[in-house]
Amino acid sequence: MWKKVSNTELEKFLTAARDVAKLQELPNFQAILRGLNSQIVQRSRGCRVSRFRTYRDNLWTFRVNCSGTTYTVWLHAEDTDRNPKTLPEIKIKCTCPHWKWGGPDYNANAGRYLYEKPFSNVSFPDQRDPTLQNKLCKHAFAVLDKARDFIIFESQEQERKRVRDEDRTQKVEDDREQRRQKQELRRQEQDQRKQEVQKQKHLRDTERRRKQDLHNKDLQDKRDQRKREQEEKRKKPKEEQENVFNK
Ligand SMILES: [Zn+2]
Repeated sequence: MWKKVSNTELEKFLTAARDVAKLQELPNFQAILRGLNSQIVQRSRGCRVSRFRTYRDNLWTFRVNCSGTTYTVWLHAEDTDRNPKTLPEIKIKCTCPHWKWGGPDYNANAGRYLYEKPFSNVSFPDQRDPTLQNKLCKHAFAVLDKARDFIIFESQEQERKRVRDEDRTQKVEDDREQRRQKQELRRQEQDQRKQEVQKQKHLRDTERRRKQDLHNKDLQDKRDQRKREQEEKRKKPKEEQENVFNK
């Protein structure tokens, strides 16, 4: 989302039916693409564009990677001279060698769509671009193509609506996050309770086994005792008998 450009001319530029202006609606956007070398459009197809940094005043930098090499592209929807009587203008520049030597630097400078200062001495590209069709390099074209639908102006009503929608979306997300956290907490409590129950069960089992062992030992002891006593008894009458015979 582009920051709103404060520009009364841009407001007039909008018809009553629309309350959003996109980058591609600027006359200077269309002018840059008019008469552009079609080979550049072709070559830009394999480029990957990622927005790198956002500055104030509708200035962006992009990283553009084509077949393994990455260059930086600046794009600025410049509110020219802060003049409310003119529409914002697109200014653009790329760091690649083709921009500097292949025509774009010269053409952008001559067409007043060059971002800040030229990279070259802007001499006429009589070798590489004598017909002045290389108005952009493939990287800059890929950026402009991606930025077509960027919003550069919205009416106050539209802005209020967008903010309301964004707030609502945020609230829905916040609610969802809160619910998620509550569920997580509940799950943790359940886990804790489960662990506590298992711990208690383990303690009870251990105690039960201990008592059982004690009981078994006690029984065994008693059995042993009885055995000893019986044995004693069996011996005793014999001795007594013997004693009787001996008398
Ligand atoms: Zn380039």
